[in-house]
Amino acid sequence: MTTARILDFLRTERPEGPCLVVDLDVVRDNFHAFRHALPDSAIYYAVKANPEPAILKLLASLGSNFDCASVAEIQMALTAGASAERISFGNTIKKERDIARAFELGVGLFAVDSHEEVEKVARTAPGARVFCRVLTDGEGAEWPLSRKFGCVPQMAVDVLVYAHQLGLESYGVSFHVGSQMTKVDAWDAALGDAKRVFAQLAKQGIYLQMVNMGGGFPTKYLRDVPSAEAYGKAIFASLRKHFGNNLPKTIIEPGRGMVGNAGVIKAEVVLVSKKSDNDEHRWVFLDIGKFGGLAETMDEAIRYPIRTERDADEMEACVIAGPTCDSADVLYEKNMYPLPITLTVGDEVLIEGTGAYTTTYSAVAFNGFDPLKAYVI
Ligand SMILES: *Cc1c(COP(=O)(O)O)cnc(C)c1O
Repeated sequence: MTTARILDFLRTERPEGPCLVVDLDVVRDNFHAFRHALPDSAIYYAVKANPEPAILKLLASLGSNFDCASVAEIQMALTAGASAERISFGNTIKKERDIARAFELGVGLFAVDSHEEVEKVARTAPGARVFCRVLTDGEGAEWPLSRKFGCVPQMAVDVLVYAHQLGLESYGVSFHVGSQMTKVDAWDAALGDAKRVFAQLAKQGIYLQMVNMGGGFPTKYLRDVPSAEAYGKAIFASLRKHFGNNLPKTIIEPGRGMVGNAGVIKAEVVLVSKKSDNDEHRWVFLDIGKFGGLAETMDEAIRYPIRTERDADEMEACVIAGPTCDSADVLYEKNMYPLPITLTVGDEVLIEGTGAYTTTYSAVAFNGFDPLKAYVI
């Protein structure tokens, strides 16, 4: 969404591109939409989506908690004004000395998905709360999270029993349905799994309290997506279905859904060319590509809306590529992208919906290109 404030900023400040501009008003609206959609769930913003200090500070002031994947992210959340009790160390793959450092900083909530990780937490963060991540199938997500994180629910039972035996507080179950999840009912099966883990532990006298329902809430790219409210309704209905009147504490960890639509990248056309005299398709090269912040175009997974000042002109499908000397730096080729036939070198383009997973994925200096600059307004 290119807001009037973003357009105004680009017009008056004329920042050198490529750059990302994030409108904090949109982030604030998204936060309120989540709070309204799931009023009983605590919001843990997934810092990795966009850790700009002004975004973290705004969210901290609104009462958000933070899902952090590293000590550096924990420090950013603390600097933004969140106390350590509002921080979850949500990565299931942690160095033992990083667990120790987080614990020293006051963090007391850790994700695990294996016996081995439980042992690390028990050694370095004695008595801390842990939740075990279970696998989901990722079906319906445009950016699925594969099998890297989580274990099967039956193993989660064993992992949480083990954590209890080692003196940790077995606190709950987590899952992530996959990012940019466009199906509102995708949480249902995982909540059923969570309930079964709760029930099996209760038989052994261990009473879990919390379900961390992860992220996955979508942002609007080219297609419309259901509202936060629609997700909230579906999730609440599933919680009721599986847990009845005995609802657990719940957490959500929106990343993309919190900041995706708040950002716009200003970029520039560097070259428009063809590969032969009778080539039917143009190649449009931008000054930003896969290594400059658009990594989620990998496998053409995320298709960003692109606006130009010539959108009233006739459109024709073209290949869009980035500026680096790496042949992987092609954004859209299998599924070509319609752009105006009049588009020419030096034209500005606006790439919308780029508030999440862009600056954090941008290389430091591949081919000498600077990391993606960000302005938060
Ligand atoms: C990345 C991540 C999130 C955020 O996911 P989105 O799909 O961007 O909402 C939430 N929780 C965990 C544990 C993550 O790794």
